[in-house]
Amino acid sequence: MDKQFQDGSNYPIFLDNNDSLGHFRQRFYLKKNSIYMCGNSLGLASKDAEESILNVLDMWKEEGIKIWNVEENKYHLYSIHLAILMAEMVGVDGDEIAVTACTTVNIHQAVSTLYKPTNDRYKILVDDINFPTDRYAIESQVKLRGYEIEDAVKIVKCKGKFIDEDDVIEAMTPDVALILLPTVYYRSAQILDMKKISEAAKKRNIIIGWDLSHAVGSVDVNLKELDIDFAVWCTYKYLNGGPGSTASLYINRKHFHQVPGLAGWHGNKAETQFKLLQKFEHRHDATGWQIGTPHLLSMAGLEGSLKLFLEAGLKNIRKKSLHITAYLMFLVDTKLSGYGFTIGNPRDDERRGGHVCLEHDESYRISLALKARGVVPDFRDPNVIRLSPTALYTSYEEVYRLVDILLDIVRNESYKEISDARNMVV
Ligand SMILES: *Cc1c(COP(=O)(O)O)cnc(C)c1O
Repeated sequence: MDKQFQDGSNYPIFLDNNDSLGHFRQRFYLKKNSIYMCGNSLGLASKDAEESILNVLDMWKEEGIKIWNVEENKYHLYSIHLAILMAEMVGVDGDEIAVTACTTVNIHQAVSTLYKPTNDRYKILVDDINFPTDRYAIESQVKLRGYEIEDAVKIVKCKGKFIDEDDVIEAMTPDVALILLPTVYYRSAQILDMKKISEAAKKRNIIIGWDLSHAVGSVDVNLKELDIDFAVWCTYKYLNGGPGSTASLYINRKHFHQVPGLAGWHGNKAETQFKLLQKFEHRHDATGWQIGTPHLLSMAGLEGSLKLFLEAGLKNIRKKSLHITAYLMFLVDTKLSGYGFTIGNPRDDERRGGHVCLEHDESYRISLALKARGVVPDFRDPNVIRLSPTALYTSYEEVYRLVDILLDIVRNESYKEISDARNMVV
């Protein structure tokens, strides 16, 4: 149990008063009488994001087609503009990032470029608890190259709830051509040791890519020091870019000479793009992997949101995220023990991301009972409630109230009044 915290009802107010990021909360749209714990799935709207979205809308209204050219072509080059901000979030150069497409398409893009199967080296290594879209993408990529999925997709199996880094390294046999793994697991919040795994892959000349979807905006990642081949991440979770906001693709500059697997006219060299030639000449930076016209309205929220993150500071964000999730675990340990809850995420700070994974046999009905009481959690089949107090907009007082509500629900067994028919999206 965590000795750094106390249990009294005044204590969260003390923590809020001493929270150096506390004032950022005012820049978000929070609902009265509601406790938002779903920032790991869809981040809340900020006034900063709203402003940048409205800016784009105004430009469209005012300028029509000239929107592409106002402010020195800012919107035509919007991916580059945002990539410079995004690069700071993950510690790489701006020209190594394209803010484009969705995460799944970016996996297709990177894999179709960097996966170069040969007779004896053609397998792609994945694991069995990653967010499934990554696996779907990998399976279709090997199929497109004429392989059987069962043969060409190699799967590292979890032990219990977690993936063991040593198992991943052991699976890096000479027939493995490429690896795709998540940094933070969406269900358990486990963080993989990116450095250890990436170094082992590099030593064996295996192309390695990471899915940072549950990491960027909550965990500090520094891609530069890892020297990995590619990475992808979405921007609507912790980054609060808006529902379906445009994703990001990192391509290590050592691959800039490679021809994009999925070519399109917005990956063509800037100098000749509008000559509209029949021959594709790819750009030698990450924007060479853009396919079509930038989705301005889906990108705009990121401009305000990323500036807000950089203003708050990534180290500060990680520090508060660890602290406020530790506080939540402390309250679960002290107040909810004996009511059938277990904490399903790793306890060590180095091994856990930005959400708490609460497990209970009645998780489904408890999550519905939470919703009825104004809490927004999310449920993952069969028994996980994910709770994500975020650094920029969750208060300690909300975490305290959340645990009180949980206690009330299980003490009175009020969830038993709710139907267990799992026929709805939670
Ligand atoms: C959220 C998430 C995605 C989302 O993919 P989209 O194509 O952007 O919808 C992909 N991979 C992981 C690991 C995720 O957590």
